[in-house]
Formats: sequence, structure tokens, C-alpha cells
Amino acid sequence: MKTELSSEARVAIVGAGMAGARCGARLREAGMAVWVVDKARGPGGRLATRRARFVDAQGEERAVAWDHGCPGFEAQDARLQAWLHTQAALGRATLWQPQPGPNEGPATAPPPARWRGTASQPSLCHALLEGAATQWQTTVQALRRDGAAWWLDTNGTSLGPFSAVVLALPPAQAAPLLAPHRLDWARAAALVPMQPCWTWMGVSQAQAAWGDGDWWAPADGPLELVVRQTHRLDGPSAQGLDAWVAHARPGWSREQLESPPEAVAEALQAAVARVLGHPVVWQHSLVHRWRYAQPVLPPAERWGGARWDAHARLGQCGDFLAGHGVDAAWRSGEAVAERIVSQALEPLPPSGRAAGARTERAPLRTP
Ligand SMILES: Cc1cc2nc3c(=O)[nH]c(=O)nc-3n(C[C@H](O)[C@H](O)[C@H](O)COP(=O)(O)OP(=O)(O)OC[C@H]3O[C@@H](n4cnc5c(N)ncnc54)[C@H](O)[C@@H]3O)c2cc1C
Repeated sequence: MKTELSSEARVAIVGAGMAGARCGARLREAGMAVWVVDKARGPGGRLATRRARFVDAQGEERAVAWDHGCPGFEAQDARLQAWLHTQAALGRATLWQPQPGPNEGPATAPPPARWRGTASQPSLCHALLEGAATQWQTTVQALRRDGAAWWLDTNGTSLGPFSAVVLALPPAQAAPLLAPHRLDWARAAALVPMQPCWTWMGVSQAQAAWGDGDWWAPADGPLELVVRQTHRLDGPSAQGLDAWVAHARPGWSREQLESPPEAVAEALQAAVARVLGHPVVWQHSLVHRWRYAQPVLPPAERWGGARWDAHARLGQCGDFLAGHGVDAAWRSGEAVAERIVSQALEPLPPSGRAAGARTERAPLRTP
């Protein structure tokens, strides 16, 4: 049932990965005002694209970008598929059919097709949040209740008041924020094991030897996946260069979790060269450590893929609550939004509002 909701019933969404972005988009479709906050410089979370500049062997400055989080995802959910096809028609999403590298063996079947953002991975979350009130580079350190109102405590500032809050964060980051309000959720979140992932990014001179290959899934060694992402090089940067991303296996990443990045970079670069089976001239490389890359095991969907406490007006979503990957994050964000929409959220009573509270772009105040 669709409910008429006041625009003053503002929902704060903490985290702008796929789960938070889908939650925000669904609430806005239902006529609700949302305020999306993320500690990063923009949306996307683990749907991430990293940009860098470097000087090539000829002394020319070049630009490169890598999808260093999720390289592409399979969409099972019908609504996610429909949305992606709409985005593809607008040129914003691309269905990518990975091609096994030429040395992967002639019998290697291509892996399933995957979706990615055309301009970048975060562009998919940008598209969902188009027109929403957003605030970046803001780490939420605590959630606070003041009467009927929720406030988000950030570095020395309180954001609010809000009628409801949704946490769309990896479990370890959600747990301390939940603890004062829902200790049971916090304990459950703290118990969700997440796999780490060391990710190596590099640029090489292009070689005909790779053919159309852009996907290597080695059976052993430190790496579980090597992806060629030359589509992320554009303009003059595309000439004569290939861009690469390699993800280490969870076990290797855990063993090396606290190793110096230089040592990890050296080990992974050597492993990439072994996987490609060809001498490679590298022009630039770096590493990124994902402490919380993916949940270890898809949990049972005990909360319908998300959590919503109608009394406290507190919600939680994220991939780990609905299974695995971007598809799960989408479903989880949608599930919490549906619960909020089905509950008529009242506008805050006067006592729940800070004096002179406004509903436009700058809700920063201290109650
Ligand atoms: C290396 C790697 C490979 C992957 N490969 C695949 C794949 O092949 N297929 C697939 O489907 N999925 C893959 N994934 C997983 C996929 O990216 C995630 O499942 C999905 O993006 C999770 O979305 P989310 O919204 O639940 O969380 P996230 O994307 O993690 O979003 C959480 C957001 O919360 C923000 N945040 C955290 N703490 C705070 C705070 N205190 N205050 C404010 N903001 C905060 C973060 O900045 C982040 O933007 C991969 C992930 C990684 C890292």
C-alpha cells in the first residue's frame, strides 16, 4: 500500500553504496525526503573506480582509472535487471561479456556476463541518487535520539533532525553505531565475518598477445582474478597501454593483511606476470586493501534481507543481510525502503525539531 508521506518525514541514510543508494531511490519514488551521508568523496562504496595520473616511459603524463572494487556484477533480481536495461538505454550501464585470456586454455568457457557503470562503477549509484540531498566526506560517529528525532553525530557536528535512520554500512562499521540502540543487531553485525581483499592495479604496455582476453581466473597462487580494464583508459591515455586489476584470494589477503603495501605490491605484481604468462613492461602500479570486501557466507535471509524497527524508526541494510554481492545490496536497500514506505512515518512533532529547523540542503545543527 502506498502511503502519503510528509516531506518533513526525512530519512537519513548513512552509506551510499548500492544498498543505501537503492534505499534512497525507492523512498524518493514514494515521495519521501532523504538525506544521504557517506564518509567517502561520493557514492559507490565497494562499487568503486580509482583514478590516477602517472608519467609513462616516454615522459608523457597519462591518466588511468581502474574498477578496483567490484569489477562487474550479475543481476538476478528482476527489478535490478529492468533498471539496468533502462540505464543501458541511457548509456549509463554496460553489459560486459568477459573473455578468458588466451592462455587460460581453449576449453575455458566464458564466465557469465556482468554489469558495470559505463562512465565508472559509482556512476550507477550516482544515477540512483540523482536529485537526492547528499553529503560526502562525512563520517557518522554516533546515532543519537532526542525525543522523536534522530541526530547523526559527525566530527563535532550534529546532523538532523530526522524522522528515521537507515544504516547501509558493512557490518563491522554498523555495529558500534547500532550498539546504544539495538544491542541485538549490533551483536549480530559484529559476528558477520567479512573477507578482506588486497587489490593490485597496474598499467602495462599493450600487447597483441592478450587478444580479446580480459579475464583470468587462476586455479592456484595468491590471485583469484586478473581483469584487463583497458576500457577505463580514454583519450590519449588509451594509446598503447593496458590497465589491469588483480584481486588476491581471501586467505592470502588475510595472511598479508598487515604487511607493508610495498611488499604486497611486489608479490602481487609478480603473481600477475605469472598468470599472464608473458613478460610484461609495467608503467605504473599501486595496491588497495579492502578490509571488508565480501561476506564469507551468504546468511539466511532471517530479516527479509533487511532490518526495520518500526518503533525506533531505525533500519539496517547491506549486501550481508540479503546474501552476496551487488544484487544482494540492491535487494536489501529495497527491502528496508518497502518497510518504511508501508509504515506511515509521521512528521516530527515540534518537540522533536530543533529551533528553526529547515528542510533544505543544510540541516546541520546542534539540538
Ligand atoms: C574486491 C571486490 C570484488 C567484488 N566482486 C564482486 C563481484 O564480482 N560481484 C558482486 O556482485 N559483488 C562483488 N563485490 C561486492 C560488492 O561490491 C558489494 O557486495 C556491494 O557493492 C556492497 O554494497 P553495500 O551498499 O552493501 O556496501 P558498500 O558498498 O560497502 O557501501 C557502504 C558505504 O558506507 C560508507 N560508510 C562506512 N562507514 C561509514 C560511516 N561511519 N559514516 C558514513 N559512511 C560510512 C562507505 O564509505 C560506503 O560507501 C566485490 C567487492 C570487492 C571489494
